[in-house]
Amino acid sequence: MASVSNSLSFKHGLSLWCPQSPSLHRIRHSSAKNFQRRGFVVAYSSFANENREFVIVGGGNAAGYAARTFVEHGMADGRLCIVSKEAYAPYERPALTKGYLFPLDKKPARLPGFHTCVGSGGERQTPEWYKEKGIEMIYQDPVTSIDIEKQTLITNSGKLLKYGSLIVATGCTASRFPEKIGGYLPGVHYIRDVADADALISSLEKAKKVVVVGGGYIGMEVAAAAVGWKLDTTIIFPENHLLQRLFTPSLAQRYEQLYQQNGVKFVKGASIKNLEAGSDGRVAAVKLEDGSTIDADTVILLPYDQ
Ligand SMILES: Cc1cc2nc3c(=O)[nH]c(=O)nc-3n(C[C@H](O)[C@H](O)[C@H](O)COP(=O)(O)OP(=O)(O)OC[C@H]3O[C@@H](n4cnc5c(N)ncnc54)[C@H](O)[C@@H]3O)c2cc1C
Repeated sequence: MASVSNSLSFKHGLSLWCPQSPSLHRIRHSSAKNFQRRGFVVAYSSFANENREFVIVGGGNAAGYAARTFVEHGMADGRLCIVSKEAYAPYERPALTKGYLFPLDKKPARLPGFHTCVGSGGERQTPEWYKEKGIEMIYQDPVTSIDIEKQTLITNSGKLLKYGSLIVATGCTASRFPEKIGGYLPGVHYIRDVADADALISSLEKAKKVVVVGGGYIGMEVAAAAVGWKLDTTIIFPENHLLQRLFTPSLAQRYEQLYQQNGVKFVKGASIKNLEAGSDGRVAAVKLEDGSTIDADTVILLPYDQ
């Protein structure tokens, strides 16, 4: 039995179909009410038992777009089940560091406004959309193990499902600073989902000095949001300029000037030694390897996803 994390290791070949594959067309054009595959019989429209024809593990961006494709191919109704760790139907995750972080008086983006597939100009797939399309959604019940040979999976609540084909779309997680260097202090944030973004907004409402660690796209977005909240904002990163992997030095310089004109400070070529707590136990400062410290009541760590 394989245990499920964001890096799944399966001992046996995964039964994973591309919706464009000829085998799917064969099923779509079949008039049979039931079909049999590797001895696995599924009623087309019944979720009454533990048998599911198609299961997607993970309810993120990929799941939302895959669901749309299943619907387009007439393969969703009564046949597709999505098992999600989150409490929400799939949404456009990139919104979390864009419109979602706008100050509260600037009409920030909120669900259901950015469910997939609005990011590509598609339909807004609300929870009702999944119901209408006959797609079973299991929320807040992460898959804890998958048995590839038996084609079964178990969720955290103990639900057992048998699948015909499985799509694993569990995305990744934000890498965290270790606890011993302050990576879990109150006021320290990572952003992957709505709950993370809501926690950050709660901090921003009370914050005065914000430090963003990471000079990539998401760091730039979060810093722009923080100055939108009129907060003292510093971006720290180890490279020589913003978006070192993508921007030329001259392009980066133009962005850095724009950010500086809006009040953002930069600490470049810097590595973090640890995050320090104040007397109230919340993060109070970021200590750098060169011995200097930067005061902060809110720190957003965006090193990389894993
Ligand atoms: C803040 C932020 C901003 C971004 N901005 C951009 C951008 O501007 N442009 C861009 O191209 N990309 C951006 N990205 C990246 C983009 O969001 C991802 O590439 C995309 O979300 C990947 O989709 P996915 O479905 O593979 O994973 P995810 O969207 O991460 O979805 C995975 C889902 O699986 C769930 N899950 C994990 N384990 C289990 C389990 N065991 N059981 C059940 N469910 C599980 C997770 O909770 C999650 O809901 C951004 C990402 C973040 C976090």
